[in-house]
Amino acid sequence: MVYRTVNINWTPKTETQWRTYNEARKEAARLWNDLVKRHFRIRRRGLKWPTKSRWEQWAKGRYPKLHSQTVQQIIGEFLEAVNSTRQLRKKGADPDLAKYPWRFFRYRDVIYTNQGARIRDGYLYLPNGVAGTLRIKIPDSVTLPGRLMEVRLGLFSVTLVCECPDEIAPVPSGKEIGVDLGVNTIVAATDGAQAVVISGREIKSEVRRRNKTLAKLNAKQATKQKDSRRSKRIQRRKKKFLAKSKRRIKDMLHKTTRKVANEFPGATVYVGKPFNDAAQKMNRKQAQQVSQACNSQIIEMLNYKLAGAIVVEERYSSQTCPVCGHRSKHKRVYCCSQCGLVLQRDCVGAVNILSIGQHSALLPGRNIPQVIKYKYPGPSPGRPAGTRQVARH
Ligand SMILES: [Zn+2]
Repeated sequence: MVYRTVNINWTPKTETQWRTYNEARKEAARLWNDLVKRHFRIRRRGLKWPTKSRWEQWAKGRYPKLHSQTVQQIIGEFLEAVNSTRQLRKKGADPDLAKYPWRFFRYRDVIYTNQGARIRDGYLYLPNGVAGTLRIKIPDSVTLPGRLMEVRLGLFSVTLVCECPDEIAPVPSGKEIGVDLGVNTIVAATDGAQAVVISGREIKSEVRRRNKTLAKLNAKQATKQKDSRRSKRIQRRKKKFLAKSKRRIKDMLHKTTRKVANEFPGATVYVGKPFNDAAQKMNRKQAQQVSQACNSQIIEMLNYKLAGAIVVEERYSSQTCPVCGHRSKHKRVYCCSQCGLVLQRDCVGAVNILSIGQHSALLPGRNIPQVIKYKYPGPSPGRPAGTRQVARH
């Protein structure tokens, strides 16, 4: 079974809806905060950590503004968070970094299981105990890809998680491709015969826009008194803006990985470990923000859109000539001084990553892709018709 998510943007319309929405989200936060507090106390006293069913018993009747399944789901999420921190610490992670849940929330996402949430006649019904049921119109453009499993009521958005039959998962073709992740070129992929190079400039500019707007809002917020009405208003704007930007980037990543999947259907993917030296010329901080935001998401998407993604060590992969093995640094185009190979640098990286994946080593004498397709994540490069791009020197 495969899980797919559908996102709907939604804002409460009526006063009643607003009340239910806020009360449920506040109640979810209250439950979470109680769990955080209790966890802290139990740990401090060195007591045994209760089981999930003990917690569920404890919570019974305490949170009347949530559906009983919602309560169980949030408890489950909390226990998972505690458990993963415990695992990390066991493996020797720094306790300052691997923290147990510690943050208190004012609002939190409300999670509904398929026993709580219902779909009827194009409407989604989300029950919240005594706070009332939310009725949300599912837009006509949205079709659910499978059986509804879980719903998440977030800030101005509703996420539906569906379970789909396996047929949708791609059939492995036995082919293998190498993928190099970068910044200006977000993805370069090759199977040795042909290559696809997808521009990362749109994503980069979105990240830049996000940072700029965020800096502006932060500066504005700094002039307001803390916890004042105006400061909170800016806080809300910030959150909404960030959520939107995140969705935009995710959309572009989906389009990017879909193009790779269409080009090499069912291939096994070898992908270089992020983050790489492709960002060497860029402002380091910004480059990191780009790759941090994207790389793990891209790998995850490639993993399910193709026949699995395997992360490999990619040291020197974009500096080594795949024909003669000579190592040297290059800018956008790789020109080997030994054998005269001329190839787009990110393609060199992809060819070498494929070699590392297949033979666990950077071997010379690789097949060089003869066809290189340059693509954008979106449908068009976004240049108005009739304006020619002029090369700058
Ligand atoms: Zn060479």
